[in-house]
Parts: sequence; structure tokens; C-alpha cells
Amino acid sequence: MALATQSAVAELVCFESSCRARYAITDVLYNCPKCGGLMEATYTGDAHDPVKLKRLFRERRMDNSPVNQSGVWRYRELLPFIEDERHIVTLREGNTPLLDAPIAAKYGGLDEVAFKHQGYNPTGSFKDNGMVTGMAQARRLGMKRVACVSTGNTSASMAAYAAAAGMEALVFLPNGKIAFSKLAQALEYGAKTLQVEANFDEILALVRTLADRLGIYLLNSMNPFRVEGQKTIMFEMLDQRDWKVPDWVVLPGGNLGNVSAFGKGLREAKAAGLIDKLPRLAVIQAEHSAPFEAFWKAGATGEFPAVRQPETLATAIRIGDPVSWPKALHEVRTSGGTVEKVTEQEIADAKAQIGLCGIGCEPASAATLAGIRNLVAQGVIDRGADVVAVLTGNVMKDPDYIYKYHTGHLEAPDGAAIVSTFGNQAMVVPNDADKIAALLG
Ligand SMILES: *Cc1c(COP(=O)(O)O)cnc(C)c1O
Ligand SMILES: [Zn+2]
Repeated sequence: MALATQSAVAELVCFESSCRARYAITDVLYNCPKCGGLMEATYTGDAHDPVKLKRLFRERRMDNSPVNQSGVWRYRELLPFIEDERHIVTLREGNTPLLDAPIAAKYGGLDEVAFKHQGYNPTGSFKDNGMVTGMAQARRLGMKRVACVSTGNTSASMAAYAAAAGMEALVFLPNGKIAFSKLAQALEYGAKTLQVEANFDEILALVRTLADRLGIYLLNSMNPFRVEGQKTIMFEMLDQRDWKVPDWVVLPGGNLGNVSAFGKGLREAKAAGLIDKLPRLAVIQAEHSAPFEAFWKAGATGEFPAVRQPETLATAIRIGDPVSWPKALHEVRTSGGTVEKVTEQEIADAKAQIGLCGIGCEPASAATLAGIRNLVAQGVIDRGADVVAVLTGNVMKDPDYIYKYHTGHLEAPDGAAIVSTFGNQAMVVPNDADKIAALLG
């Protein structure tokens, strides 16, 4: 079945402004063959009527067909790189809520805040928004195997979508710390998991050599089709707000693929007439994994200051050399945004405050509220500003962290104790109704 995406022509274009080389949308490229730059999908074709488009997106929510139930493919006019619906396999990704959180707002110094919670996705993180589009491209290219280098949410998500698509998933693990709950997901979804005695970059180089030789499609962070799906997090957020643009969108930054996707999506929504201004993007990094923050504060000139040994308990953002920084820089600048860093203690306390709203998230996600608190204190974000913070991962991704925080046993990577500021411990009580009644008041 053909997808109703009008007359759009999709191409791959090099992101480097000095190059802008163009390639066919079906070329298997992760970097520009001419200059090594990042690739992105671009579209030309007839303009859409924004009023009709908004109505169409809304109507599709009532429709029971799988592509319209997907919170990603519902917005397909804005990511028209797939022509045939048969290439799409959906687990009903997206469809994530926008949640009010008064306690968190107060803690952050804001009158109000809304959390766009991507942890409600099928495998518990926003990686699903991008994996569903990356997998569609893998299928249209006729690939039989997909691979990524990751110990985290990327491998969990890729494994699930590969299984759903009947494809073989290869997860390559670098040596060092493994996120067990995330690896467990990859195993459950049947991924072939290969542990290699090398670091992340060495394995990525190895897998790239193997990819060409064995016909494996790479779904790592630099895959341009993952960015296309992650754009829809912003479309869905705007749709949920009846297209009212917030002042700020705040998100954690690791490899910086998500901020790149948000910026691209927002610019494209503006170009399509769906919105008339851009929200400002604020990227929050963890103190000892903050090369982008250092680059930004130094004026974003010269060599990118990659961190050799990034550390943070927020493992989803423990990235020292983020591949997508050129795109991220462009998007933060274009939006009039900013980049901030937060400490391990600030992340842990912010996470507990989010929890007190009945909203769980993984540690990386809580960097948003910690960052908001600092940016409001600095006067960068106004107390009355309209702020959407993106919670990127599910609370059950890291239960060990939660238990340790609440019982006063959480330690930063350098061994420093993290204070259990908002700790909540189980109480041991006697088997005695009177004593329990007295205790509970
Ligand atoms: C991947 C991930 C991030 C980091 O996103 P980038 O696109 O790499 O900047 C943050 N939080 C969670 C839960 C993630 O899975
Ligand atoms: Zn190029």
C-alpha cells in the first residue's frame, strides 16, 4: 500500500555547510563519503496546508490502523522518506503523555512545568521513536541484519524492533560497565549479543568494516533515519498543546542525537506553517560527561573538547565524544537555547522530586529538572516561563540506583557519597496493631 505523502522527494544531504553533497535516499551512508560529515534526510515537494495537516493528525488518533496508531508514523507527511507502508513495523511507539508536575515545578523554581514522558514507550525510552523509522529504512533497503554498539537503551530498542520485523539483531558490547536491566531486554528480545575486548570507538570501527562485508545495517546514533523518528516527539508534544509553542524545551544530552532531532523537527514544523516561532532548546549534561557544555561555554570555537573518561551514574548520558555535536550546536544556536551541566547530587535529588509527583524516570531524565533549577536560579529561564521537559527513560531502567538513593547507599563514580536528601526508607515494625496504629497516627 502506498503512503499518502504527496509529491515529496527525499534525499540524503551532508550536514557540513561547506560540503552539502547530495545522495540518493537509498544510499547506505552513515557519514559523507566526500568530507566525513554527518548525513541528514531532506525533503522537497509541494507545500502542505497546515490547517488540513493538523486536522489529519488529529483524525488519525481515532483510526485503528497500525500506522495511524503509531505516535511516530501518524506524522508521516513530515518524514516522507518511506514510500511503501509494507516496510513499516510498529509497536505503537510514541503516544506518550504530557504530564503536569506541581511539586517538581516548585522544586525547579517554576510556576508550572510539563513533562513529556518518553519512558512510556514500548521498550521504555525515546529510542523507540527513532528505531521504528530506522528499521523501516532497513527493510526498504532489503537488509536482513541490523547492528548497534551499545549497552543501553539503543540495544534494548533495536532488539525489540528487529524481532518484530523478523530481522536478526546484533548487539556489540564494549568492555566496561554493563547496564544489566537494559542488556536483559536485548536478550529477552532475542538479539545476538557479542562482547568485544575493545572500547566503544574501536568496536564501532570494527562493526563498520563488518557491516559492508556482511550486509549489516547500522542503527547507531549517526544513522540519519533515527533522527527522523525522534522529530515526532516534538510534533506530538505540539499536537497535545494544540500547537501552542512553549518558551523552552529542556532535555538531557549524551550523544546529542535527540536535541538534533528536536531542532530539525521544530524548524521543519515552522517551515510547514504548523507553528510560527521556535521554542528555545536547553541541553543538560552530567558534570563529568559534559564536553558539549564546556564547548558551548567556551564560545563553541576550535577543537571539540572530547572527554576521555566520561563518568556519571546517569549511564544513558555517559558519553565523552558525542557524534552529533555539530548538528546539536546548530540547533541550540538557531533556537536561541543554552547548554548547562548538573552534579550527581543534583540529578539524584531532582529525580526524587519528580518521583513525588507520581512520575518515575531514569537518572538521565532527571538531569532536566536539575538543569531547570540551575537555569531559573541564574535568571536564564523566567519563573513564569512555559517549559516542557522531556523525560527520556522509564523508572524501571535503573531500580538499583533508586533503592540506593533512598537508603543512603548511593555513591558517585568517584566514590563520593550522595546525600539521601529526600530519602524514603522501609520501616521495620512489630506485629502489633496498637504499636502500628500509634506509629501511623
Ligand atoms: C539515549 C538516551 C539519552 C541521551 O540522548 P542523546 O540523543 O544521546 O543525547 C538520554 N536519556 C535516555 C534515557 C537515553 O536512552
Ligand atoms: Zn560532506
